[in-house]
Amino acid sequence: MRIGMLGGMFDPVHIGHLRPALEFHARLALDELRLVPCATPGHRETAALPAEERVALVEAAIADIDGIVVDDRELKLPPPSYTVQTLRDMHAENGEASYILGMGEDAFRGFCRWKEWEAILDLADIVVMHRPGTAEELDPEVATLLESRRVALEAIGKQVGRIATLEVTPLAVSSTAIRAMLARGEDPKFLVPEAVRQRILDNRYYMNGKAG
Ligand code: ATP
Repeated sequence: MRIGMLGGMFDPVHIGHLRPALEFHARLALDELRLVPCATPGHRETAALPAEERVALVEAAIADIDGIVVDDRELKLPPPSYTVQTLRDMHAENGEASYILGMGEDAFRGFCRWKEWEAILDLADIVVMHRPGTAEELDPEVATLLESRRVALEAIGKQVGRIATLEVTPLAVSSTAIRAMLARGEDPKFLVPEAVRQRILDNRYYMNGKAG
């Protein structure tokens, strides 16, 4: 069984998460892709929206999509969330499966600062997805890591500790930009699925002038 994992704040979820997620699922022939909302990220103190609301938005986004699920385990633990622990827990539940950790280029740039990043490479392969607007040049440590572990996409999911890159449909969308739009009273139509947009507008999320 091939299980993909895509972590993030999803504050809110948008097409820049969802379209690459679909392409990741299809190109890697995943049996299941788990979207894993995190409690408190390394780079920001708090989310703009409470965890359960972020989860509800992700659930609304993927309601009719087979093979992509929300995994809210990180929200049930005291923050901050650590991918290494999540992967260890997933292995404990199903040690037979192969785990493939997906992330955008921007996230990968900081990978060598993640808690126990070497241990992550003993638990999973990594697929780095193209994200427009990300600087080309990597820090030497991350560049060396990519250089030494890089394989073709077809080789992913057979061992652990390998890294491949995946060209996905480039979508220059971010949660930050969507929160800023909403704070300005603008409508994010077509940047988020319609069910997500409706839930945001109905609840007036992100409209208190705090763009996060
Ligand atoms: P924020 O703007 O609040 O920092 P974000 O839009 O970057 O949020 P996250 O929830 O932090 O979204 O991202 C979760 C994962 O999805 C990360 O691995 C990130 O690189 C990836 N991702 C987010 N947006 C895109 C995009 N437009 N294209 C490709 N990958 C993306």
